Amino acid sequence: MRTNPNPLTAVRNLGILAHVDAGKTTVTERILYATGTTHRRGEVHDGTTVTDFDPQERDRGITIFAAAVSCAWNGHRINLIDTPGHVDFADEVERSLRVLDGAVAVFDAVAGVEPQSESVWRQADRHGVPRIAFVNKLDRAGADLDTAVASIRERLHPAPLVVQVPIGSESGFTGVVDLLRLRALTWADGSDTAQEGPVPEELREEAKRRRRILEEAVAELHPAALEEFCERSTLAPQTLASALRDLTRSGDGVVVLCGSAYRNRGIEPLLDAAVAYLPSPLDVPAVRGMHDGAEQERPADPEAPFAALAFKVNATATGRLTYLRIYSGTLEKGDTVRDADTRRTERIGRILRVQADRHAQLERAVAGDIVAVAGLKSARAGSTLCAPDAPLVLEPPGVAEPVVSMA
Ligand code: GDP
Repeated sequence: MRTNPNPLTAVRNLGILAHVDAGKTTVTERILYATGTTHRRGEVHDGTTVTDFDPQERDRGITIFAAAVSCAWNGHRINLIDTPGHVDFADEVERSLRVLDGAVAVFDAVAGVEPQSESVWRQADRHGVPRIAFVNKLDRAGADLDTAVASIRERLHPAPLVVQVPIGSESGFTGVVDLLRLRALTWADGSDTAQEGPVPEELREEAKRRRRILEEAVAELHPAALEEFCERSTLAPQTLASALRDLTRSGDGVVVLCGSAYRNRGIEPLLDAAVAYLPSPLDVPAVRGMHDGAEQERPADPEAPFAALAFKVNATATGRLTYLRIYSGTLEKGDTVRDADTRRTERIGRILRVQADRHAQLERAVAGDIVAVAGLKSARAGSTLCAPDAPLVLEPPGVAEPVVSMA
């Protein structure tokens, strides 16, 4: 019998978390480029990055205002929610953490864990957001994956699970060994696409040693992996991959990858890992909200009553755009929705999927999705929009703390 998988299993609502300057904007740019969402690489220093919509942002060269961008990778849709890395925007970080299902934490390979990386990490812990880590800037003088991983272990998480070995170092950093498949991925100068090949001779022993460390760490944390490890004293790649997925989603382990976003090295394996390990909207607990003093649960089901959280409102040249995370139900163009704060109803104008600097118009959007809506007058960041006959409040006004812990 043919199964028809729920299309939501192929959606990833992700954020990129980082200390300012670790390379979040550059990683985002390279993801958009690698997924064919943009056709030229933007550079932070010349103000051409695509995620930085706002002129103030361009001027400051840091990402202040969250925006959501959609891209496609290997049959999956990744909605990238840009989370502000600056500590002054803690409320925006909180709100963006609420609407994502998983995150990539970016670290600088020279600086390792920095104070802001720690505070954003703790916020993500409180929201139960599963994460993978990307140690960036391996091309910099003084970059060292092991030291960065040690700082992750000491300051953030006891179980970093390193799945790659860098090939070359500093300006000679040319690729990574994938420890699951024991294959090398290298990027030739000027090429944006990885070449796959055998592990270089001089790294074979090192790769085997690291694979062993990874297997032991995984076996220690995952019962099924432990069983297989005890029986066969090794783990098959499929067992490793599914254990890494479980450990990421439960928060018991953090998969660590590495690369250089600036040189466009390591982005494709990062996307593969994000899709493989981080959860879809169906893999996270149903959201809960309040109505008449009672808590209600809303599943990620297109047939359930509509409920969405507005997490960002942007004034753009074409009008006001409200970014929504749809938690349950279906939203169609022309629908009437109720703003749970103001108790007013509003009509939905255009529904848009933001793809870098372009907007795709949609007829409808369903639970689990992230879209922008044009035409809403009163909704603000933090407003719940719901079906008029099924009211719900996801975030009480003036309260930055979430109603729900997704842990
Ligand atoms: P954000 O503040 O976290 O968004 O960081 P940016 O993406 O703006 O990067 C901060 C600076 O680091 C910029 O000058 C980037 O060009 C530079 N940068 C980002 N990634 C890399 C990298 O992989 N290697 C090197 N050497 N520099 C990088």
